[in-house]
Amino acid sequence: PANYRGRQVVVLGLARSGVAVAKWFHEAGANVTVNDRKERELCPEADELEALGISVVCGGHPAGLVHEGVSLVVKNPGIPYSVEPIRRADELGIETVTEVEVAYYLCQAPIIGITGSNGKTTTTTWTGLMLEAGGLKPIVAGNIGRALTEAALEAAEDNRMVVELSSFQLKGTSSFRPSIACLLNVYETHLDYHGTMNDYVVSKMKLFANQTEADTAVLNWDDPVCRQTAAKVRSRVLPFSVREELPYGLFVKPSLKEAKERQVTALLTYRDEKETEHTILPVSELGIPGSHNVENALAASAMAIASGVAIETIARVLREFRGVEHRLEYVRTKDGVLFYNDSKATNPTATIKTIESFGQDIVLVAGGLDRGSDYMELLPAFQRQVKGLVAIGETKEKIVRVAKLAGMSRLKTVDTAASGLQDTVTDAVREAFALAKPGDVVLLSPACASWDMFPSYEERGRMFKQSVHNL
Ligand code: ADP
Repeated sequence: PANYRGRQVVVLGLARSGVAVAKWFHEAGANVTVNDRKERELCPEADELEALGISVVCGGHPAGLVHEGVSLVVKNPGIPYSVEPIRRADELGIETVTEVEVAYYLCQAPIIGITGSNGKTTTTTWTGLMLEAGGLKPIVAGNIGRALTEAALEAAEDNRMVVELSSFQLKGTSSFRPSIACLLNVYETHLDYHGTMNDYVVSKMKLFANQTEADTAVLNWDDPVCRQTAAKVRSRVLPFSVREELPYGLFVKPSLKEAKERQVTALLTYRDEKETEHTILPVSELGIPGSHNVENALAASAMAIASGVAIETIARVLREFRGVEHRLEYVRTKDGVLFYNDSKATNPTATIKTIESFGQDIVLVAGGLDRGSDYMELLPAFQRQVKGLVAIGETKEKIVRVAKLAGMSRLKTVDTAASGLQDTVTDAVREAFALAKPGDVVLLSPACASWDMFPSYEERGRMFKQSVHNL
């Protein structure tokens, strides 16, 4: 990294990551200004930074914040590229990077970077547990919760950084180079931020841009975009598939589809460079259900294998892992009706995967922020398995339309209650319970982000669980 002593650095966004970045540049001798659109009262971190001698500007992005004297702009991944200070930096030819790039400069440990449209958190968590069990002292950070810069500062050479990365974060990188990089899948989500699918794919590709032959790319062989990536990377490709046996890589044997048809158990299998096959575990022994989780299991195992973790250790973690909160999370059974919380399903593809994980009939609670997704994608899954729907939030009419096309008759919409969010959720849960028959699953899997009503998907999931427990 460059020498920042005496140079001016502007940090945009005062979230946890912004604070860690600001402190690091300050300690490196830079003159740091942190800027956030939020009002001062909503920036509790401001006092601490000012006490260190860092300037804090709150309540908007003032003109003149970025000027010719500035050397570098570091932006929080959530801030769009269209904001004034970044446009200004562009005009002046000043480099804008995200926290991931900075963390890369700071980090002494090898980095494992995981991205994709869906499955990131599950796969990142699982990989971390495998490395932990293998004695590799992982530090799990990034999009998953912990600020990457903060974690990077703490990492020593013998740690492994296991990092969940969103495409937003990857967009602002230039020299970032993970020693193991995994692309899980690419679906058409987040288009409102990136504008075009192409832009989205280009961001994801940045994960591999600086890799060399010494590095590894873990790629989903069943996903066309991931497969195309293989031809473009310089690193060693370690593929995985739930559909076909591969000459080299991880797969299930026989394929999931064939195993279902023949009613046999598929085996998670690794075929190494010498074409020796190692059985890792029968799919039926995985700690969490769903074919998407078989994909996540293969991806995590691939990264653990590439890190040198023993197959038996991997198998143990695959068996014991019980999943992450708000992802296909079992809540309770009441009068024979099973309740599951999948609040993290924030796009139609995620909801479809979750629906397909169940053998039972489903009463679905769905709807939320309208990001312009194509809800018609839900139709086949609705026709097959969803017997009832309770629609909430901005997209409720759109989802009801699909349910009607699917011939569903058990239908309800719930309006946001004046008495508060918890009451709204309680209404939805009550309606869903009323629509369900013993043996059915009531599933919160919204297919939409939460921000039309809730502060976060976590809050949405917690309120759902609360209402379910109160039934
Ligand atoms: P992310 O961090 O990418 O949002 P999560 O692991 O938090 O992914 O899972 C979110 C939701 O996405 C899950 O509840 C599930 O419905 C769906 N999902 C998980 N893994 C996959 C996958 N490999 N492919 C498709 N959908 C998935």
